[in-house]
Amino acid sequence: MLMKKILITGGAGFIGSHLCEKLLNEGNEVICLDNFFTGSKDNIYNLMDNKKFELIRHDIIKPLLIEVDEIYNLACPASPIHYQHNAIKTIKTNVLGIINVLGLAKRLHVPILQASTSEVYGDPIVHPQREDYWGNVNPIGIRSCYDEGKRVAETLMMDYHRQNKVDIKIIRIFNTYGPRMAEDDGRVVSNFITQALRNQDITVYGEGNQTRSFCYVSDLVDGMVKMMNSDREIIGPINLGNNTETPIIEFARRIIDITCSKSKIIHLPLPQDDPVRRCPDLTLAKTKLGWDHKVKLDDGLKETIKYFENKLRNEKKI
Ligand code: NAD
Ligand code: UDP
Repeated sequence: MLMKKILITGGAGFIGSHLCEKLLNEGNEVICLDNFFTGSKDNIYNLMDNKKFELIRHDIIKPLLIEVDEIYNLACPASPIHYQHNAIKTIKTNVLGIINVLGLAKRLHVPILQASTSEVYGDPIVHPQREDYWGNVNPIGIRSCYDEGKRVAETLMMDYHRQNKVDIKIIRIFNTYGPRMAEDDGRVVSNFITQALRNQDITVYGEGNQTRSFCYVSDLVDGMVKMMNSDREIIGPINLGNNTETPIIEFARRIIDITCSKSKIIHLPLPQDDPVRRCPDLTLAKTKLGWDHKVKLDDGLKETIKYFENKLRNEKKI
């Protein structure tokens, strides 16, 4: 396979660090660009000695000039707590940031893959979600900085493609989990696992009947690379995720079982605009990319629990 010089924005984040690792293992040169808002050097520590790896501290809301063969745009905080922390900055990252990165792709004539999200479907009323569903998004709510930001980013991708013939790839990522998720990101996977490991109460928001479909990170990055390497006319959007839908209350019980925790489940108020059901239709990913998820939820959870257990033990938090 031809080796390339690949830019990964947001490469020091959870998913980005796994993508850096995979593309390096395939023999490519990787330039990881990050402003370290939610990412960390710990995530890429094991890559620092690799001569084919380069790290640049930069914020994508400022233009960037660099020579590469391919671009993966992942820069954007992903958990509700993080993206709501500075909502205006989240929108700037999604709008000004993608304009800068698309401008680079246009100038260099190289393909660009955008990490979009299931959040473009908002609180969906169609199940499972197919890519031709336009979604049900609150444009003025507390999640809009992210949902609408990512929707505009998709629009910009399409407009640069139609107007400037930029080679684009859009994937819509559904809830992804695995080692290197941030402990403090407030997401359900990191919260429940760290609570269970500390025998603290497990905080289920609402009754816990809302569902999510969890995809292990190695499956996701396989799909991302398959999408990037697909034929030029495959531009997406294409859903990537796992279509095993799990109610949050059941997810809490599963984590208690696997960790043999003494934790009890408590119920806290449901956050505003929290989607009721979420599950991807994966027909396009299967037929266009020949991709499917492989890792079972219990196996992925065991790996993730192992990661958090080591981390909390090393930091003397358990
Ligand atoms: P993350 O927060 O761990 O990673 C995001 C990275 O982007 C971090 O390293 C952060 O420092 C960096 N970043 C943020 N703003 C930036 C900016 N303005 N300039 C440069 N770098 C910036 O999140 P993640 O879970 O790894 O998500 C990666 C991408 O995938 C995001 O675009 C997210 O929207 C998308 N996504 C993730 C999920 C998921 O379940 N994890 C679901 C859907 C979509
Ligand atoms: N959730 C929960 N307890 C927590 C954190 C999250 O019950 O401690 C719920 C949350 O309300 C949502 C689901 O778990 O219904 C997934 O939340 P997360 O923040 O992980 O992702 P998103 O809502 O963006 O899918």
